[in-house]
Amino acid sequence: MAQAPVTEEHDLQIDTSKMSEGKRQALEVTEAAREATWQHPSFVLELFQGRLREDLILPYPLQDPEDARKGDELIAKLSAILEQKVDPDEIDRTGEIPPEAIDALARAGAFGIKIPKEHGGLGLSQTNYSRSAMLVGSYCGNTAALISAHQSIGVPQPLKLFGTEEQKRRFFPRLARGEISAFALTEADVGSDPARMTTRGQPTPDGRHFILNGEKLWCTNGTVANLFVVMAQTPPKVVRGKERPQITAFIVEKDMPGVEVVARCHFMGLKALYNGVIRFKDVKVPRENIILEEGKGLRVALTTLNTGRLTLPAACTGASKACLAMAREFAAERVQWGAPIGKHEAIAHKVAWIAAHTFAQEAIAFYSAALVDRGGADIRLEAAMCKMFCSEVTWRIINETLQIRSGRGYETAQSLRARGEKGVPIERFLRDARINSIFEGSSEIMRLFIAREALDPHVKASGDLLNSRAPLGKRLTSGLRAGLHYAGWYPGLWNPLPRTFQVHRQLAPHLGYASIASRRLARALFHAMGRHQTGLEKRQALLARFVEIGTDLFAMAATCARAEALHSKDPAAHSGVIELADLFSKEARRRIEEGFRAARRNHDRDAYRLAQEVTGGAYRWLEKGAAEVPFK
Ligand SMILES: Cc1cc2nc3c(=O)[nH]c(=O)nc-3n(C[C@H](O)[C@H](O)[C@H](O)COP(=O)(O)OP(=O)(O)OC[C@H]3O[C@@H](n4cnc5c(N)ncnc54)[C@H](O)[C@@H]3O)c2cc1C
Repeated sequence: MAQAPVTEEHDLQIDTSKMSEGKRQALEVTEAAREATWQHPSFVLELFQGRLREDLILPYPLQDPEDARKGDELIAKLSAILEQKVDPDEIDRTGEIPPEAIDALARAGAFGIKIPKEHGGLGLSQTNYSRSAMLVGSYCGNTAALISAHQSIGVPQPLKLFGTEEQKRRFFPRLARGEISAFALTEADVGSDPARMTTRGQPTPDGRHFILNGEKLWCTNGTVANLFVVMAQTPPKVVRGKERPQITAFIVEKDMPGVEVVARCHFMGLKALYNGVIRFKDVKVPRENIILEEGKGLRVALTTLNTGRLTLPAACTGASKACLAMAREFAAERVQWGAPIGKHEAIAHKVAWIAAHTFAQEAIAFYSAALVDRGGADIRLEAAMCKMFCSEVTWRIINETLQIRSGRGYETAQSLRARGEKGVPIERFLRDARINSIFEGSSEIMRLFIAREALDPHVKASGDLLNSRAPLGKRLTSGLRAGLHYAGWYPGLWNPLPRTFQVHRQLAPHLGYASIASRRLARALFHAMGRHQTGLEKRQALLARFVEIGTDLFAMAATCARAEALHSKDPAAHSGVIELADLFSKEARRRIEEGFRAARRNHDRDAYRLAQEVTGGAYRWLEKGAAEVPFK
């Protein structure tokens, strides 16, 4: 018999015995994302504790020249392939990426960018992978999704993190050559809440195989993949007298008997996404295909996503850069009411917003990629914020660019070309980008995840104080220890003086503001904990405001730091970079102040109550006047 696996339950440091099953599982999901090898603290987590850690963000980690040179080679190859083999509007129209484009990408190594050289990949850094995602994402969302789903969440990433040498030798060369892979977690009833999945992996009597049964929904690359990472429930374990579900990650081959592509799914955008419903019927998978260990699937999935989540922000930043070019050109050329529309303030402000926020996206995306390259850093919060911020900002940037191009923004590139105009594809961009705040962790789930992590140090500091099963003596000791901790920490949060930073004089006040605002944020969080106690987790609107304030502080700090670094390195090549960071910081500060105001005074309870009435049917009268045709 195989040794009993260590369950993720053992890693929990919080008393879960009184929790509902759903709440306990939600907590396990968060805990599973923690990694054991972190040596460096998270800049963002420190921010939530009231500390703007200059040493973690200044100097900004620009890419070193040798790494940049390696990346330049790949970028040059990819640019040529995009130009010669990839027609994004045709791909959008036909719903197919031409095989010769996929072949060319595979030959250039685009399917093995981070796979080590000794296993046939390019062995490049996360930063160079992000640069590639940015390039492809700026041009063709479908191609970006194909490459990203394969190596950000498909087999290469979990194998890199957790694979055995034997698994790496067996799979990496195939993956690097261009055999496509996919990640299968979601099911019809299991979306944001993966712990409740129903796909089952039952061990054979000799324990050498598992028999997989179940159906996975919306599996990107699933219709063309040769290899899948499949998450399934394996037999439960008894922990503290209770049965605990176990999730295990399997590598499954398309050719294994019982794997079936049931349907290809189609969406409002990403028309060439090879996304489908994949059925597993009595699929016999060898035990050697388990990634990490039996029962460690959630850890595999969520740790994979910690880094995997950084590709999408890079691709989003690429799309924003493309929008900046589209908006700039049109705002300068289009003349209405006797002046280029960029001279009218309403349009000018949109252009400025697009430029400043594109720079902020780049600043946080490359900062987080650099953390991965350095290694040993807790990047969960940075990655989740990048994912949330970049997907939401890119959506707004695309929408504003469409508004700037107006009628021409709404018209398809094909139609524009047919009447002799330039085929600017902003309509396609809008359709393709909508999914970004939904998959790989929806914006709502990102906010919850970040809030929980922000509160985690307080939960830890409280120790057994919150453990209802601990003996009274232990709880009192914990209370005393927590009291001492807070007596040292809390008074410092009232320090009203900004810190001074050795950066450009236009940016120093913004970092000074951020240092005060982070203390204010830590105080506000702490007070909210005191006021709402265990009810705080239900106050999602309040928590979301804190998360948004924290995100803007992170973005401000990274933006100012990057601007400082680029300005110092080569001011001529980055003219106006200080103004760009200055404008972003001013915008962010306005949002932060609004956030603090709304955290104090809001109508959250009214809105919640009304929503319950609406979902309960009390406002059906308001729906009258709409066509009453049932959707079939
Ligand atoms: C185009 C596309 C590609 C995809 N690719 C993949 C893939 O390759 N592999 C894979 O496994 N999955 C994939 N997915 C699935 C995707 O990750 C899920 O759609 C996503 O996780 C959300 O799940 P759901 O759609 O079931 O929404 P639900 O979980 O049903 O949520 C519905 C809404 O409620 C919100 N919500 C849910 N729970 C809470 C809560 N506790 N508090 C507040 N709000 C909440 C959500 O944010 C969302 O807005 C893909 C989906 C699409 C559409």
